[in-house]
Amino acid sequence: MTARVDELRDLLHRYNYEYYVLDAPTVSDAEYDELMRQLRQLESDHPELVTPDSPTQRVGAEPSTAFGTVRHEIPMLSLSNVYNYDEIAEWVARVHRLAGHEDIEFVTEPKIDGSAVSILYRDGVLERGATRGDGVTGEDVTTNIKTIRNIPLRISPLKKGAVIPGVLEVRGEIYMRRSEFDDLNRRRGEAGETLFANPRNAAAGSLRQLDPKLTAARPLRMYAYGVGQADGDLPAMHADQVALLRDLGFPVTDNAQVCITVDELWEQCESWLNARNDLDYEIDGVVIKVNDTNLQNELGSVSREPRWATAYKFPAIQKTTVIEGIEINVGRTGSLNPVAILAPVEIGGVTVRRATLHNEDEIERLGVRIGDTVVVERAGDVIPKIISVIEENRDGSEQPFSMPDTCPVCGAQAVRLEGEVARECVNVSCPARVREQVRHFVSRGAMDIEGFGSKLAVLFVDLGLIQDFADIYDLDWNRIAEIEGFGDKRIENLKQSIAQSNQQPLSRLINALGIRHIGERNARSLAHHFRTMDRLLEATREELEGIPGIGSVVAEAVYDFLQEPRNRELIARLEKMGLRMDEDSVDTGPTDGKLSGKTVVLTGRMESLTRSEAQELLERAGAQVTSSVSRKTDFVAVGADPGSKAERARELDVSILTEDDLIAMLRDDGVLNPE
Ligand code: NAD
Repeated sequence: MTARVDELRDLLHRYNYEYYVLDAPTVSDAEYDELMRQLRQLESDHPELVTPDSPTQRVGAEPSTAFGTVRHEIPMLSLSNVYNYDEIAEWVARVHRLAGHEDIEFVTEPKIDGSAVSILYRDGVLERGATRGDGVTGEDVTTNIKTIRNIPLRISPLKKGAVIPGVLEVRGEIYMRRSEFDDLNRRRGEAGETLFANPRNAAAGSLRQLDPKLTAARPLRMYAYGVGQADGDLPAMHADQVALLRDLGFPVTDNAQVCITVDELWEQCESWLNARNDLDYEIDGVVIKVNDTNLQNELGSVSREPRWATAYKFPAIQKTTVIEGIEINVGRTGSLNPVAILAPVEIGGVTVRRATLHNEDEIERLGVRIGDTVVVERAGDVIPKIISVIEENRDGSEQPFSMPDTCPVCGAQAVRLEGEVARECVNVSCPARVREQVRHFVSRGAMDIEGFGSKLAVLFVDLGLIQDFADIYDLDWNRIAEIEGFGDKRIENLKQSIAQSNQQPLSRLINALGIRHIGERNARSLAHHFRTMDRLLEATREELEGIPGIGSVVAEAVYDFLQEPRNRELIARLEKMGLRMDEDSVDTGPTDGKLSGKTVVLTGRMESLTRSEAQELLERAGAQVTSSVSRKTDFVAVGADPGSKAERARELDVSILTEDDLIAMLRDDGVLNPE
């Protein structure tokens, strides 16, 4: 028992050091939390084993000696955790019991996953910024804090009359937006630098740079969630203190909610959980606080956690598991896709057995070997992916993996073309490839053949009924009638939905062909531009490249596909089967977009679009482009050196769009690819 307690403490000390000091954790948060839970349990069963330096008694890790130290007048604590409705109810009941009554307001706030800071202002001027450190002593990171753009160097209230306390310690979280984190990692990858594991580590690591210039170059932000020390009269309610911070110009959450009942608290927790994947910042839970700060003081804290606040932690999306093997799937373009076979692990209520490894570059980047312990993440509905390898867990038995140079399904050569990340099977009739192609062809966004799901696609290919997707329109129904489960009714329905799919517009057919880099959106661009298959088949590389939203790589892929005699033959066969080969004459642009149904006038010179490109994109978004401005005009898009149309728009009070506005709307409406 004592040995296990010691072992857990050693592990947790080490993980704390890696997480808080090195900003490079080697285990998932869930694994850390589980070890902490075990240690707490043992210590609560055997209180005599508790020592003051146990990780259960201390916050974070000791500050690094590379920075000056700062003593926190009011300790910066951690938070206890609750994981479900019942635990919230228990926590609330305890607050009620300790307070002696039940008439208590709580506030819920998002728990942004970053690094805690304390920022001290004297007479409205930023004097000192510090990390949490071990809760009592933090690191002096003032110069770094001053480089963060949304932290005021001098408080200038947004609201007239807001009184600035003489001393004000603002507490908050330094974090990085997901989009900016992705961008940072992309640039680091391009520069051959090591990538950050997640936005939290990137934020914490960036904040603790010894050279403030490096911190300044990172996209850091602060989110203020409370006040530490302060002089003068502050509002008594926490929610009002946060509102004061907002009035003083600090970024705070707009979505703090005052709740009374457990049901109300739970509703907030669930609503944040649902919104989680749509936010541009990572949150790992919801913080619940007692609103009245006088009651907060009365309730006080236990060693490392206040009694007046707790964190509802979301179900983990990262877990640690072992790679038992690496399998190769062959995709519809013939690409060999490595997939990790995992020792089954439950993540957020789902058992995960496989995770994508993307391609050989990714395998190399991660350095994974078969037998490795890895951190796996399941975020939203995204396919689980491997985040990192825990190299310390290696015992020498792990097997390095290299991609095969033949296709595991048909044995043909698998080659990696220059400039491509994927290795591909060269056999166009590889059964694995045909299977995936047919699966894609019949799917919703493509020909949308009802009742022809992916199981049927696989079955028909495996039975040799389909060798390429033109065979879908030429099925041997007598043979199908012999297959179990295919009664007259099912066959009739299937025949009917196949026949109906004949009339799908060209855009869907182009998507269904499974050309590399062509999805629904690009297929629509091509169909709108060419209108008929004949015209598309004649397209030159230059013409393809000239289509808005189609870059040179995509143009090349389309051109190569269409020049391949076998593909032309296939298209000819589809035509012979009676498939429609043109696009709807009425514009099929989105009907729910910002530009749909609007009348737009273009004037002046645009930097990034020619007049005809802008016109084509607008039409595709369902807008009508006219030449003169009237009261009926919805928008006038104004480029450089505009003529009298811009003036007329102002006179008539018609909304004016800059080029950037126009581009943003075209992107929002899905007719122009994001940058
Ligand atoms: P915590 O991060 O779970 O909660 C406390 C922190 O929440 C505060 O310090 C504050 O910075 C932050 N916070 C965000 N929004 C807030 C708000 N609105 N109000 C108040 N505080 C808010 O606790 P911790 O002690 O900082 O860290 C423990 C957690 O860190 C563990 O549960 C684990 O998930 C992770 N951890 C992981 C490893 C690892 O090796 N993977 C190691 C150590 C810690």
